[in-house]
Amino acid sequence: MATQRILDFLATRRPEGPCLVVDLDVVRENYLAFEKALPDSRIFYAVKANPAPEILRLLASLGSCFDTASVAEIEMSLEAGATPDRISYGNTIKKERDIARAFELGIRLFAVDCVEEVEKIARAAPGSKVFCRVLTDGAGAEWPLSRKFGCVPTMAVDVLRQAKALGLAPYGVSFHVGSQQTDLSAWDRALKDARFVFQALAEKGISLRMVNMGGGFPTRYLRDVPTAQAYGQAIFEALKRHFGNRLPETIIEPGRGMVGNAGVIKSEVVLISKKSEDDDVRWVYLDIGKFGGLAETMDEAIRYPVATPRDGDETAPCVLAGPTCDSADVLYEKTPYPLPVSLTIGDEVLIEGTGAYTTTYASVAFNGFAPLKAYVI
Ligand SMILES: *Cc1c(COP(=O)(O)O)cnc(C)c1O
Repeated sequence: MATQRILDFLATRRPEGPCLVVDLDVVRENYLAFEKALPDSRIFYAVKANPAPEILRLLASLGSCFDTASVAEIEMSLEAGATPDRISYGNTIKKERDIARAFELGIRLFAVDCVEEVEKIARAAPGSKVFCRVLTDGAGAEWPLSRKFGCVPTMAVDVLRQAKALGLAPYGVSFHVGSQQTDLSAWDRALKDARFVFQALAEKGISLRMVNMGGGFPTRYLRDVPTAQAYGQAIFEALKRHFGNRLPETIIEPGRGMVGNAGVIKSEVVLISKKSEDDDVRWVYLDIGKFGGLAETMDEAIRYPVATPRDGDETAPCVLAGPTCDSADVLYEKTPYPLPVSLTIGDEVLIEGTGAYTTTYASVAFNGFAPLKAYVI
């Protein structure tokens, strides 16, 4: 939902063109809610969700740590006031020279999911701590992360043994249960695998210390989602179930859950039309689409709430599309989107829950449209 601060900003500043407005008060509330829900876990904000300097500075001042995917994100986190010991290089796919650069910048915590990556880190960041990512099935997530990251638990055991053999510090296990994960038991299944790796390595004389429980915490789009408190409770119970009274250190890496509901995109209806006289589905074209920041509508995975100035009027199903000359630039067609029949060309609409994965997912200038503008207030 758009906060009063966002509505006031849009009403007084009247920015031209599509733009994202992020309310920092909501980011602060989200951070504090995570801290309260999982008091024993350290929070590593997933910078890729929204790297706006104002957001990073706020989170750094609140004590957050940062999960980064590249040297540029490491530099942004440092610039925002985070010390290197509060930054992890969490991408499992890194060039060796980027690992070396991160090491120079003071980073000592790296993600791996194979022996080949361990070898790079042993050469470029000697003595560092590594955690190995295990595969999850992503079931229950609206934006699953597939098999691209992680390895099976038995392989994780070998990867961490090799890390030890090469002079690194085998530190723990990580997983990501898939983004926008609304199934609270997903963490239970992943923690069971983490526990297996801990146990198998303990038998070989290597004691791991940390479980990185990743992101996946949802934002409310059209349906209610469980609270941070409910996630905290479910995760804590799963930790106790699998680790008993020898709980490991834990990390969480919220991205979407930290900033998703803090942002709203203002957009404008450019055209409303039909493909034939007797069509009952209208096409509504906005001035933002898949290439302007709404990439997560791919396969209609994320369905954003759209607020119009005519809400309350009778609605009818519409195909919602973006403004570019690419036929892939359609947001919702398989499942048409109900919008007021009174909606008119020139109306401003608010696309809610767009604080995460929008500005940095916008193309640079496809069709000459500028990248998505953002205001952080
Ligand atoms: C993207 C990502 C996150 C954030 O995921 P959300 O679902 O947005 O919370 C956390 N950890 C890693 C390693 C990631 O790649």
